[in-house]
Amino acid sequence: MHWEAIHKPSEHGDPMPNMGDYAAERATFTWEEARRALDGLPGGRGLNIAHEAVDRHAAGPRRGHVALRCLDRHGERTEVTYAELAETSNRFANVLDTLGVEAGERVFVLMQRTADLYAAALGSLKHRSVLCPLFAAFGPEPIRQRLELGSGRVLVTTPTLYRHKVAAIRDQLPLLRHILLAGGSTAPETAEDVRTLDLDALLARASSQYEIGRTDPEDMALLHFTSGTTGTPKGAIHVHEAVVSHHATGRIALDLHPDDVFWCTADPGWVTGTSYGIVSPLVHGVTSIIDEGDFDADRWYDVLENEGVTVWYTAPTALRMLMQAGADAAKTHDLSRLRFVASVGEPLNPEVVVWGQETLGLAIHDNWWQTETGGIMVANYACMDIRPGSMGRPLPGIEAAVLIRDDHGDVVVGGDGAAVEAAVGQQGELALRPGWPSMFRGYLDDTERYQSCFAGNWYLSGDLARRDEDGYFWFVGRGNDVIKSAGHLIGPFEVESTLMEHPAVAEVGVIGKPDPLCGEVVKAFVTLRAGYEANEDLRLDLLGFSRKRLGAAVAPREIAFDQHLPHTESGKIMRRVLKARELGLSAGDTSTLAAS
Ligand code: ATP
Ligand code: MG
Repeated sequence: MHWEAIHKPSEHGDPMPNMGDYAAERATFTWEEARRALDGLPGGRGLNIAHEAVDRHAAGPRRGHVALRCLDRHGERTEVTYAELAETSNRFANVLDTLGVEAGERVFVLMQRTADLYAAALGSLKHRSVLCPLFAAFGPEPIRQRLELGSGRVLVTTPTLYRHKVAAIRDQLPLLRHILLAGGSTAPETAEDVRTLDLDALLARASSQYEIGRTDPEDMALLHFTSGTTGTPKGAIHVHEAVVSHHATGRIALDLHPDDVFWCTADPGWVTGTSYGIVSPLVHGVTSIIDEGDFDADRWYDVLENEGVTVWYTAPTALRMLMQAGADAAKTHDLSRLRFVASVGEPLNPEVVVWGQETLGLAIHDNWWQTETGGIMVANYACMDIRPGSMGRPLPGIEAAVLIRDDHGDVVVGGDGAAVEAAVGQQGELALRPGWPSMFRGYLDDTERYQSCFAGNWYLSGDLARRDEDGYFWFVGRGNDVIKSAGHLIGPFEVESTLMEHPAVAEVGVIGKPDPLCGEVVKAFVTLRAGYEANEDLRLDLLGFSRKRLGAAVAPREIAFDQHLPHTESGKIMRRVLKARELGLSAGDTSTLAAS
């Protein structure tokens, strides 16, 4: 189906987008200039993420502005101003000093989304230890694996999480020297244990003043594990310099303005929840909503309405679930404060973009990036028309290309010079020219894998895409997920999006199923919307529906109904798990598989 472009009115509402014209910004943007928008540590002592995010606001006119508005599971609100956040993070940095933790050592944080988590995260950055946030829903084994891989020295958690997830594995982690329990007294069975400490007591004794030490922009700041969608999660290394990207992308891609109320729904255990749930909004001095609760359509609409969210950054799976909840759920809420909605993490079906326009009165701005890129790379912008189904255009300051390589790995189309244009309309590897500030500096303990991500002057993302004649990028699929059927290369996204257009379909995961004749055939696993029954008639209808739109070569040959598609904890469909189940094989690393 052809989707009409969504045009932005030439008279923009209030406020005007930060970037008024894409081409003009692209022509003048430099990372040096972007760096100058930040303070740097006083006395020329370098660049530190937490200084830019907190201290510079706490020392200026925004000190009384609300930095975090935290909602607990019952909807109870706690507000933390920039001045207060500066103090609590200072205390945490002092606690690390008192414990003898050194710069560069790894501090893991395993907590629910409460104000304590944010103070610990920012305090670790101030202290110049390396922050590694973990998702609180992880089980003991994924926690152990990551602590071991990352040589965790400190773990910050809560008594309950400690009891359920850490107590049983701590003896297997000899490098883990301190476990700090926040938000309650020390768990009874550990009271005698010198390695397990009551964080609240330590914070109460610590000074609220802290001077951040000299921080080289290239000092390691964050260790982020990837989502594990395609295999064992990798540890991506990021440095303090990344804050330049977090600031620039917050301005350009999320269009943050000083009075915004911003809600990033991702957990800090994923890169989105750190780059855009902690750093970017704070660097911009806005108010961030932190919701401890899990997804629930009514609750989320309540948060948007009651908190007066103006800019919302979320994920396709959540949007698809809101669609599934029906338009009435949205219509009963006053969402008039909302002015900009963005999405990341998975391909955003055009159906969902248009649903946003119809139901929220706002089109959804898809953007693309990865744990490795540290920040948004390709995006739809406030000032730019949206082509539903496209990830948008590269951020000013980012050079992106679609490469086609030969059997020797040499770039034959889409590389440098004249060949760039040759790739228009063709499917190839989505690649980026290295050199932006939040680019990962390596995979932890895996130099070989890191090196294999480069071809000539390009970083290879591992995703496949197409670029149209106007420079919009279109996601085709992950390298591993692309289906080769009877000589055709089929991107699962195209098939999934087509099936999404059928009124019965809420979500789809598509895989290539080995076939002796065609190599692979397309198989779709379909989740139905409420009110539809899985039966043979509907299956045949869906097969016919997709064949009519996609043609026999691309349409699914098989369709199965599945109301519980496997997702990562961060909400991505795990196609490799679907495939393993289909073939009766082991699903491999499932540490990030969400319980369904
Ligand atoms: P792993 O690397 O461990 O398999 P992962 O790639 O899912 O996991 P992340 O770094 O969290 O881990 O996700 C980045 C990937 O998510 C991208 O490479 C891409 O495949 C997908 N992605 C992100 N945003 C988009 C988008 N807007 N459209 C399509 N795909 C997207
Ligand atoms: Mg990846």
